[in-house]
Amino acid sequence: MVNTLSVKPADRLSARLPQSLSRLADLAYNYWWCWTPDLISLFQNINPDEWERCGHNPVMLLESVSFERLTQLSIDPVFAKRLKKVAEKFDRYMAGENTWASKVAPQISRQHPVAYFCAEFGIHESLPVYSGGLGILAGDHLKSASDLGVPMVGVGLLYRQGYFHQRLNRQGWQEDYYIDNPFERMPLELMRNAQGEPLTIDVHVRQRNVKVQIWRVQVGRVSLYLMDTDREDNDPIDRWLTGHLYGGNQETRIAQEIILGIGGVRALQALGIEPGIYHLNEGHAAFCLLEVARLEIQRTGKSFYDIEASVRNRCVFTTHTPVPAGHDVFSADLMDSFFAQYWAQLGLSREQFLALGARRLGDPWEPFGMTVLALRLCRAANGVSELHGHVSRQMWNVLYPERSEEKVPIGYITNGVHASTWTSALFDDLFSQYLGEDWHNKVLDPQLWEKVEQIPDEEIWWRHQVLKERLIAHTRFKLRQSRQDRGEDAGWIQAVDHMLDPKALTIGFARRFSPYKRGDLLLRDAQRALKIFGNQDRPIQIIFSGKAHPADEEGKRIIQRLMEWCKQSAIVNRVAFIEDYDMHTARKLVQGVDVWLNNPRRPLEASGTSGQKVCFNGGINCSVLDGWWCEGYQIDATGKGTNGWAIGKDAHTSDQELQDKIDSESLYQLLEETIAPLYYDQDANGIPHGWIKMMKASIRTNSLAFNTHRMIADYVTHLYAPGAVAGVGRSLAKVPTA
Ligand SMILES: *Cc1c(COP(=O)(O)O)cnc(C)c1O
Repeated sequence: MVNTLSVKPADRLSARLPQSLSRLADLAYNYWWCWTPDLISLFQNINPDEWERCGHNPVMLLESVSFERLTQLSIDPVFAKRLKKVAEKFDRYMAGENTWASKVAPQISRQHPVAYFCAEFGIHESLPVYSGGLGILAGDHLKSASDLGVPMVGVGLLYRQGYFHQRLNRQGWQEDYYIDNPFERMPLELMRNAQGEPLTIDVHVRQRNVKVQIWRVQVGRVSLYLMDTDREDNDPIDRWLTGHLYGGNQETRIAQEIILGIGGVRALQALGIEPGIYHLNEGHAAFCLLEVARLEIQRTGKSFYDIEASVRNRCVFTTHTPVPAGHDVFSADLMDSFFAQYWAQLGLSREQFLALGARRLGDPWEPFGMTVLALRLCRAANGVSELHGHVSRQMWNVLYPERSEEKVPIGYITNGVHASTWTSALFDDLFSQYLGEDWHNKVLDPQLWEKVEQIPDEEIWWRHQVLKERLIAHTRFKLRQSRQDRGEDAGWIQAVDHMLDPKALTIGFARRFSPYKRGDLLLRDAQRALKIFGNQDRPIQIIFSGKAHPADEEGKRIIQRLMEWCKQSAIVNRVAFIEDYDMHTARKLVQGVDVWLNNPRRPLEASGTSGQKVCFNGGINCSVLDGWWCEGYQIDATGKGTNGWAIGKDAHTSDQELQDKIDSESLYQLLEETIAPLYYDQDANGIPHGWIKMMKASIRTNSLAFNTHRMIADYVTHLYAPGAVAGVGRSLAKVPTA
């Protein structure tokens, strides 16, 4: 008898659709759609309003759209043709055999894929289990691995309520709230055993056994497995273990990391997956190393120290944090209460066990560091930009006292972004015309990007302007909603219709509001800023977005300062703050702004990726020379930037006050003397040719290096390859194109 529970969700959805539309179901259950413009457009056409209401979740859309509408579409030959075409494209993609990886890295086999562990994954806004850059990077990593045919599975947690949602009260103070994720209406499949029961694994947490179930998300050819403890047979407290991303106290944190690391290895085992390589993206997942060791001890009967080398051989680590305080550490007390039974299974004493995570051996107060554990038990490690590699070697020299700083075994592979995800449909279409239909498959080819110079100025400009208008429409919509929710008076709500002008120079600033990102640097001299943004002849406008972590009072104060500042009448229509930053707002912003502003405190931005997204859409970066921009920024013979601007140039000091002064002065000067004049130097038709020259340079020089296809190629050749000991990335020349 067929167990009705074990019917795959895509089949269940398909049964609801008219026969000729049945392919929509399996397309909805694979996130490949979210980087395929023809398919995005198809879903949207089913019912544009419903598409928005469903938060761009195609499963929810197909479940809620009326049967009448579906039958209407089922007899529409144009729709049918489009569906057939995109379904064929999907089938070709999924079957793809002649992939980049099959040629370059045949040693990574389907039988032994790379297992990529991360605490958060940002695939799409309809799967809200991410907080910021780390998650987006992980999502883009999986997408490029899929495109290039690198055998990979992702491992993470499925949070019932994800990261918090943000709203600002009338005082401009951030309040947080949470929304349940409706797993059953999301593109997720619960993994089941042969009896049709949910497949579970056991993890011992706080003296209790916790049952963990596993969901699968399909990201092109890559499966992402997300673990979830919200089961009726768990203790109510344990059901919340996977409730929130980066919520709770240290105890919740360690418990989550145990589920992620130890549970993750067990989940793969239960699924019959035997990874060839474990890739730990940031220290959160480092407990996975202990479990890999435990299984090896169980299998071989050898001691921990005998199998240590074989564990190291299979594990690689990427660090993302350039400050010591940013790395997860747990007190010895906490380790005792969570691991007292575990270390015996490794055949280790308490002291031997705690030594694995101790920065300095023999210090009884030394906490257990996840980065330390990862560096000790991984074959290779990398930072995420050249500068960050350098900072990491300096920071972790303490673990290798016999080595000089440059010999510390941490290399770097600079981050990138997934080109198809972040390029607007209008620019995708433009690139198809001028770079070639298959430009997505050639992003590693330097000649491809040279062709950007052939795009006529008028052509790139009208598309950019349309995208800017769309960004402004989105901003007004979000602002109206916020003001309504706050119960503001009618006049103030209506005033959003006068917000922002598509003709004006438009700057974007959006990211997490961590204090090191200096979201209010612009306000250091608030009067000067008012003059610049209130300028009548050369108006400048700016759109902010981003959340401060709920425990970060200083981050919240920065947001409040911005909200206070933008009320002034001279700039009331020129400064906007969009609440509850997510991937949807991020896409609108990076695709619509003229300038992307980033002014972190150097060298605290390990890489940063949002500025890279802008480049694929002709946006221009104005940023501190930190993270990736150190490598991206180019100058001409006279020292002038050719593809963007550098705030503060090379003036670096450890005096924070002074650095803020230098950087803010530099920013004001750039805006007044360089950026605004270039933008407003327009011909009779309103076309700024000098500006467009820089837009093209931004695309041409950055897109090649800062995309995740290049990044994955680097990971494959410098980290996953059997002999690799430390990644030093940016190996464009050595990488054949797909
Ligand atoms: C890209 C992205 C980030 C990362 O931004 P950075 O400026 O690199 O820190 C954060 N949040 C969202 C939603 C993003 O899309």
